[in-house]
Amino acid sequence: MTDTDVDSVAATWSGAPKPPHSVPAAADIVIIGGGIVGVSTAWFLAKQGIDVVLCEKGYIAGEQSGRNWGWVRVQGRDTREIPMMLESLRIWESFATELGEDVGFFRGGCLFTANSTQQLQSFEDWVRIADDYGIGTRLIDAAELKQHAPGAAAAWTGAMLTASDGRAEPHKATAAIARAAERLGARVLGYCAVRGVETTGGSVAAVVTEHGSIKTSTVLCAAGAWTSMFCRSLDIDVPQLRVLGTVARTAPAENVLNGNLFDDRLGIRRRQDGGYTVAHGAVLEHPVTPSSFRYFFKFIPVLMQEFKIVRLSFGRDFIDEWSIPKRWDLDKVSPFERTRVLDPKPHLAVLKGIRRNLDAMFPSLADTPIIESWAGMIESSPDVAPIIDSVDSLQGFHVATGFSGHGFGIGPGAGKAIAGMLTGKNSGIDISELKLSRFFDGSPIRPQASI
Ligand SMILES: Cc1cc2nc3c(=O)[nH]c(=O)nc-3n(C[C@H](O)[C@H](O)[C@H](O)COP(=O)(O)OP(=O)(O)OC[C@H]3O[C@@H](n4cnc5c(N)ncnc54)[C@H](O)[C@@H]3O)c2cc1C
Repeated sequence: MTDTDVDSVAATWSGAPKPPHSVPAAADIVIIGGGIVGVSTAWFLAKQGIDVVLCEKGYIAGEQSGRNWGWVRVQGRDTREIPMMLESLRIWESFATELGEDVGFFRGGCLFTANSTQQLQSFEDWVRIADDYGIGTRLIDAAELKQHAPGAAAAWTGAMLTASDGRAEPHKATAAIARAAERLGARVLGYCAVRGVETTGGSVAAVVTEHGSIKTSTVLCAAGAWTSMFCRSLDIDVPQLRVLGTVARTAPAENVLNGNLFDDRLGIRRRQDGGYTVAHGAVLEHPVTPSSFRYFFKFIPVLMQEFKIVRLSFGRDFIDEWSIPKRWDLDKVSPFERTRVLDPKPHLAVLKGIRRNLDAMFPSLADTPIIESWAGMIESSPDVAPIIDSVDSLQGFHVATGFSGHGFGIGPGAGKAIAGMLTGKNSGIDISELKLSRFFDGSPIRPQASI
């Protein structure tokens, strides 16, 4: 990778800090977090002429939204997410004209491969769900799979294919949406950590940033992996844990695959620049922290579901989280400024595994160098579905988090739904099953999709 590489992923979260000169004294709505969920919400609010300010402690898309695989898929999703995701696909399609910027969206299809007839049959349940929504997912045999992945050497039995799924480029998309929101009047402030929220009589009165306070009656906390900690300081319990994913990209290479492909050993997709974004299909690392114990019982179902791919690690993360108090003074440097960007290191053993699996699966890429690698902390709710809700105990405070490993694709649709929640207007997207209370009212916690 060179310094002038326009497709550098790490450029998203590096470069000269650009703190705002000042913050607005007041706003109708303040959004905490400049990931795809926050900026998409800001864009939909700004389209309606609403006075919205978005505060991001580091860089727009500096955390999950700039580090993900770039898959934009409905295939395999939790049924509660499907209406939002289908709307999201329509929004992604419209971005080319609506944003006036290219975000690399392309419907190349999404493949989940099967190594046996039994594994192929296990996809049938989801194909039936897709049928109910008219999605057009189908099972394909090895011969048809070869047409979609001409360079693959693996002896797959077949695959589940959703041809209308696709990808977009994470290093472009979120920043482009933020710029479009700004053009419509939203104020998007980078290097502007929100330290906390001031309340009066049980309602939101202001957000306190490192650069001053903004009076407001409505706050959206879309703080990604920081949401649980932020909310805890307000006595709002949001169960959330993190897993680390290691990702890499290759130099441009010949066409061995048209779209996205997930195999037990490799997740791979063609990039707009002609390279491939690659990750291990079966390794996620959960750094054990005090939150792991706090939320252990709620996460048992997902741990049982994912026990083959989630590895526990014990180290610095435990002490880092332990050392953060439940509350802090809002006039002093907060934990959010201390960690401007959550920038975990890629796991070297996992990178070796990615290289090994890539070469075995796509032998003609064996000489294609990996030119960049990075890692990201994926945050998840106990049932791997998002939490999008207004908080009863604090009037005017709203949460949107828990998007797990699928929030990039659904981000624009989520933004539309959340804008509806914040303004009280019907967005046409049903989010009634994504309430925070489902983790506290005795409802069974049942993950439908994987992380
Ligand atoms: C390795 C990896 C692979 C993934 N692959 C895919 C994929 O292929 N497809 C897909 O759909 N999804 C994928 N995801 C998931 C997806 O990236 C996330 O679900 C999505 O980006 C979440 O967006 P967000 O806006 O909620 O959070 P984030 O992108 O994490 O944004 C939250 C922002 O809030 C900021 N913030 C936090 N606290 C404060 C504060 N107090 N003040 C101001 N700012 C604050 C943070 O700095 C951060 O930038 C992947 C994620 C990872 C890490």
